[in-house]
Amino acid sequence: MDESWRNELQEFLAIPSVSADPAHREDVKQAGEWVCDFIRRAGGSAELTPFGEKELALGEFPASHDPDNAPTVLVYGHFDVQPPAPLELWESDPYELTIKDEWAYARGIADDKGQVFILLKAAQRLVEQNALPVNLRFVCDGEEEIGGTTIVDWIASDHVGADAAIIFDAGMLRIDVPAFDLATRGLVAFDVKVRTGERDLHSGMYGGAALNAIHVLMRLFQSVLAGPDGRLPEPLRQGIAAPTPEELAAWATLPPGSDELRDQGARALDATAAEQFYTRTWAEPSADVNGIIGGKPGLRNTTLSVQASGEFTIRLAPGQEVDVIGAAAEQLLRAAAPEGADVEIAWTGSPPSLFRPDAPAIQLGLDAFEKVLGVRPLLVRSGGTLPIMRALADKGTATIFTGFALPESNLHSPNERFLVRYFAQGVDTAAELYTELGKLPTT
Ligand SMILES: [Zn+2]
Repeated sequence: MDESWRNELQEFLAIPSVSADPAHREDVKQAGEWVCDFIRRAGGSAELTPFGEKELALGEFPASHDPDNAPTVLVYGHFDVQPPAPLELWESDPYELTIKDEWAYARGIADDKGQVFILLKAAQRLVEQNALPVNLRFVCDGEEEIGGTTIVDWIASDHVGADAAIIFDAGMLRIDVPAFDLATRGLVAFDVKVRTGERDLHSGMYGGAALNAIHVLMRLFQSVLAGPDGRLPEPLRQGIAAPTPEELAAWATLPPGSDELRDQGARALDATAAEQFYTRTWAEPSADVNGIIGGKPGLRNTTLSVQASGEFTIRLAPGQEVDVIGAAAEQLLRAAAPEGADVEIAWTGSPPSLFRPDAPAIQLGLDAFEKVLGVRPLLVRSGGTLPIMRALADKGTATIFTGFALPESNLHSPNERFLVRYFAQGVDTAAELYTELGKLPTT
């Protein structure tokens, strides 16, 4: 890596911007200031701006020519990092950029400071060459690692908008196999409480005559879980947006689902689950019971329990809505409760997101990656939940969510690392991406 790049990046990585630890609050701000300083030094304007209870690094580079008629691209990244613990498992100082063989090591080097650096360096290059064809708006937050939603509120309240958005906070499927994430699943989380009497009872005296709260809870959960075919009950399948043929063709080239399960020591849910691994986890809803409290577990006893509670979550498929599925699940749960059981249900959720693969920004993005890397990114989805993606989808902003991290980058773990050559290739790719997006029609 170029000596001057190395020094700049080291400055950014050295700031211990651990958002989870209140003791590092000032460091998080300082990392945001670092982003703003970089943008100003590179010829843009930027300010660490208070928003709600936190602050965002907001910066702009106007297009080199005729910015009033140039497309606008929003670039998001985060400048906070995961705590480095356990420190004893690090082979180098987590806040010292260390290069060993083909890897560069430091906390945040892949998630996400190294990738923010790539996007900034690419902007700087095009500004210097007087060749930036788009207006770039940088918005970075310092609470991504703690699930903060300041960025979501900011996007909802932003009236300037953008013709496309770029997020480099993801990775390749494996070395030199880039991918764009076009969708995320949503989440509805339920707390369920059951009461079936005043006090616990002797099963010898009342068993067979009195309601058992644990049994009621089991019946409730049974009503919302997948059947033998692996599918959730029909009311929980409303609104699913089917993947496009282009996406299905890309998924068919991925490693077999049986490998994905085996590598994690997992066992298939049913006979077709492995074969349908990618559609099941990316394009279908799923439900999981996450915890149950009731009775006297671990002790042989003969108590008939009258209280039980549990948590379960539904991952929503792209296309589904929190309110519709939350209400449908509550109805199924209540319908499964026998006469005499008091059932309390509370739920809250976060919506899924979905971007069209044929959107011009996505196609231009694929072209840019292919030009530099020689391989067209695969169109994939994420089974997890990412509120910023939905906020951008709601604005109609086509979003290129991708990146250069790798499965072996040790994200959120000791010895976080990034392939050294991906800094140069990443900056080339990001510069090509900004350039290609210059072809977007302006709104
Ligand atoms: Zn991240």
